[in-house]
Amino acid sequence: MVDVAIVGGGPVGVSMSIALSTLGVTNVILERETAAYPLPRAIVMDAEIHRSMIRHGLGDELAACLSPMKAADFVDADGVRLMGIELAEIRLFGLPVVSRHYQPELEAVLRHAAQQRGAVLRLGVAVTSVAEQHDRVCIECDDGTTVEASWLVGCDGASSTVRKAIGISLEDLGFDQDWLVVDLLVPEKHDSGLPDVTRQVCDPRRPTTLVSGHGDYYRFEFQLQPDEIPAEMRSNERVWQLLSQWIAPDKAKIVRTATYRFHAVVADTFRRGRTFIAGDAAHQMPPFMGQGLNSGMRDVFNLAWKLAYVQRGWAESGLLDTYSSERIPHAYGTVAQSVETGRLIDQLAGRTSHGVSPDAGYGGSRKSLAFTSGVVIGTGPAVGEPFAAMELLPDGTLDSFTLVSHDSLPDFSTMLPIAKVRAPASTILAGEVVVVRPDGYVAAVCSTSRVADVVAELARCCRMIER
Ligand SMILES: Cc1cc2nc3c(=O)[nH]c(=O)nc-3n(C[C@H](O)[C@H](O)[C@H](O)COP(=O)(O)OP(=O)(O)OC[C@H]3O[C@@H](n4cnc5c(N)ncnc54)[C@H](O)[C@@H]3O)c2cc1C
Repeated sequence: MVDVAIVGGGPVGVSMSIALSTLGVTNVILERETAAYPLPRAIVMDAEIHRSMIRHGLGDELAACLSPMKAADFVDADGVRLMGIELAEIRLFGLPVVSRHYQPELEAVLRHAAQQRGAVLRLGVAVTSVAEQHDRVCIECDDGTTVEASWLVGCDGASSTVRKAIGISLEDLGFDQDWLVVDLLVPEKHDSGLPDVTRQVCDPRRPTTLVSGHGDYYRFEFQLQPDEIPAEMRSNERVWQLLSQWIAPDKAKIVRTATYRFHAVVADTFRRGRTFIAGDAAHQMPPFMGQGLNSGMRDVFNLAWKLAYVQRGWAESGLLDTYSSERIPHAYGTVAQSVETGRLIDQLAGRTSHGVSPDAGYGGSRKSLAFTSGVVIGTGPAVGEPFAAMELLPDGTLDSFTLVSHDSLPDFSTMLPIAKVRAPASTILAGEVVVVRPDGYVAAVCSTSRVADVVAELARCCRMIER
């Protein structure tokens, strides 16, 4: 019996496999298609996920398929900047704040990395039903086979069979809009006159998004109006009419045209018994913050170390409840922020929305999201957020809690696997210890003298088993 069965070989399912295999947890991916989805959807990877991927050994592969995003702004219909941020000089976790990718290329890298780490990838196998027995989940596939696993993670996208099979429902935040998405290949992108930014054009006639993608790729998204029929708007003639303000047909090739209804939903739980959901199966959001895929990756890194602790017999299965209690409010906050950003575009275009703070725009000072319960202690400013100096975490700490301090720390015994790192005074105050979880999130900040007590409390939060 395999430790974990993953349903769905999209970017989230494959990342789940990479994270589990790195932690020594055996897994199989069941994917109904015979080839990876060939067209781009998500466009960006944020610095937190980029850093997590590097920690999982994907630094060299990603360097070849990511490029930093330079700027992001909101402009009016005449192109006058209303607000924005220059991103080129800003770094987070030692990396560009946002990096662009071409999703099919990224997915190829992820699949290769998953297989290198020992994942079994079964293609052309659709999961039809799941049933839980006392110590396992039995997964029926459409080729007549049954897979047995200790745990199941449904990464099977927005229409998730797994989510429906275990009766998890979605809470709807009430923001559905139809948009036309057009991906272009622009061979002379730098001389094309297209701006090298992510731009929300708050045009009262038609809000429009421009995203300068990785390499020669460029994306336009046009908000559809109530009287417009999606199938008609996808026609070549109509698409070029919409693009004519920006670029001529002899300068670009259309890679994909899709009409797409943005939703804003979050599942009411991410766990039922031995089954979990992650990625689009658990939440879907409008694309204005580029967080759809990043949020799915965040699910993966949150869940993987907890599954490893339980599967190794280090922790009781109650630890796995913290996956829902940590990820749901965070995902909900991200969906809500994405909705607000969409509403701000409408508001600045003088359309339906009102009262949205400009903080929802690029460069606005919106509060970052943090866990307030789960495997965290206290509510200090950094607690429950990714550790700001995550690049200091040494290799081999993906299953450890790392104590980061400027001072040397006393030895003490604990059930938690512990690593220690000395950090420069510019990162850590003298006498302070930052306790960083395996997934790079801050579990606690305390004084050197309290570290043993805090770690003991964290061991209780993790439901560690005496060994
Ligand atoms: C048109 C479009 C545009 C988008 N644009 C953006 C964007 O600009 N920015 C952004 O961040 N996000 C965007 N998204 C969302 C982004 O693509 C998703 O967040 C991301 O792909 C989610 O990854 P996932 O692995 O959770 O799901 P998916 O990529 O949907 O993968 C799910 C996988 O599960 C497989 N599967 C489904 N059911 C079964 C079954 N029963 N058995 C076995 N396998 C199954 C599917 O074949 C698929 O490979 C867009 C999505 C779409 C559709």
